[in-house]
Amino acid sequence: MLENKATTIPGMFKRHVGVKFDCCHVYTRVYTNKEGTAYEGRCPKCLRTIRIKIHKDGVNCKFFSAL
Ligand SMILES: [Zn+2]
Repeated sequence: MLENKATTIPGMFKRHVGVKFDCCHVYTRVYTNKEGTAYEGRCPKCLRTIRIKIHKDGVNCKFFSAL
């Protein structure tokens, strides 16, 4: 059985990344959305939402700063 090549499983990026929220000086994890196109998360204190786009090549950096 051949694998269906149209079904590309996004495996180039991690499921979550650590993000430092500068707004409240807290560090938390954000997870990929279900499409796997971006990391989406919220500041645990002020509930500000952030979105980090995932590039096709993957994300080099493991940690992000939410400005
Ligand atoms: Zn905040």
